[in-house]
Amino acid sequence: MSSATTTPASSLPIVADLHTHTSRSDGSCAPGEVIRAAAALGLSAVAITDHDTIAGLSPARLEAERLGLILVPGVELTVHWRGREFHLLAYGFREEDPGLNAMLDGLAQARVERLRTIVANLEHRHGVVVEFEAVRAGYPRAALGRGHLADHLVTQGVVTSRRDAFDRFLGDDQLDLPRPSLDLEQAIHTVRQAGGFTALAHPPRDLDDSQWVQWRDLGMEAVETRWPAADRNTRVKMGRLARRLGFEIVAGSDFHHPGRAGRHVGAVGLGPGEWERLRDRLRGATIDASATVESIPSEFVPRADSSRFVSSATANLDLN
Ligand code: AMP
Ligand code: FE
Ligand code: FE
Ligand code: ZN
Repeated sequence: MSSATTTPASSLPIVADLHTHTSRSDGSCAPGEVIRAAAALGLSAVAITDHDTIAGLSPARLEAERLGLILVPGVELTVHWRGREFHLLAYGFREEDPGLNAMLDGLAQARVERLRTIVANLEHRHGVVVEFEAVRAGYPRAALGRGHLADHLVTQGVVTSRRDAFDRFLGDDQLDLPRPSLDLEQAIHTVRQAGGFTALAHPPRDLDDSQWVQWRDLGMEAVETRWPAADRNTRVKMGRLARRLGFEIVAGSDFHHPGRAGRHVGAVGLGPGEWERLRDRLRGATIDASATVESIPSEFVPRADSSRFVSSATANLDLN
C-alpha cells in the first residue's frame, strides 16, 4: 500500500486512533497490548471499539492509566437500517449505563444463539460434530463470532485454516443466517441516553446527502472519514461531507491483527487539531463517567442535552 493511502489528507502526524479491535471481539491482541502499541507510537489517545462488546475497556483502562494515554471508551455496533447492515461506532458513553448494557447483553445473547444454530447445522448438513460449550470455553471473555468457531475447527483439525473454514462451512452463502443487529435509530438513541455519541464506520460509497441528513436528524453526530481501505478521493469526499452537513470527524486503523500492512495501530487516525476538537466533544459526552473524566483535564463546560433523548433501551431491540 502506498504511503498516500495511509496518511491523513492533512499529512499531519496522527495523534489519536479511534478504531481498534481486541481479543474481546475478533482481534488477536489483548486490550493492554493495543494500548501498549499506541503508547509506543506516542499517540495521545486510542479508542477500543470492539464489535458489540465493551468488555475490553476495563483492562485497557488499567494499562492506559499506567502509560499516561487517554482511553476513549468505544464500541462498534452492528446495526440495520431499511434492511441494510451498517457498522456504527459509539464513543464517550457511561460504561455502567443500564440501557446500553441491556442492549449489548441482548446482542451477546443473540450472537450465542446464532452460533449454536451454526454449530447444529454443521452436524446436520456436514456431519461435523462440534461441542458448542468447548468453543465458548475457548474464548470465555469474547463476543463470540464465526471467527472463533473457525479457529476452533482449525484446532480440531476439521479444516486447514480459517479461510478453509469460511470457504467450506461458514461463509455467508452457506449459512444464510442473518447476523444479529440493532435498529440504527434505537442504537443512536441508546448511546445518547448513555451520554455518548455515534459515528457511521467506513461508510459505503453509495449514500446520498438525504440519507445522511436523516441520520443526523436521528442524532448521529459524527462520521468516520478515513479508514485503511478508503482511497484518497474517498477520504476527501467524506471530509467534505462532514463539513457540509456538520458532522464531527473520527478516523482509525480498524486494527484487528498485527502484521497487516497499513492496518497497524495508529496507521490511520486524527491529526492534532482534529483530536483537540473531538476531545472537546468527549468532555461533554462523558461528564458523568468518572473513569474517563479522570483521564481528561476538566476545564470545560459540559453539554447537557443528551437527556432529552428518552429511549427505553430494549423496547425496540430488533435482533432479526
Ligand atoms: P460474525 O460476527 O459471526 O459474523 O463473524 C465475523 C467474523 O468473521 C469477522 O472476524 C470476519 O473477519 C470473519 N469473516 C467473515 N467472513 C469471512 C471470510 N469469508 N473469510 C475469513 N473470515 C471471515
Ligand atoms: Fe472485525
Ligand atoms: Fe466495521
Ligand atoms: Zn472495526
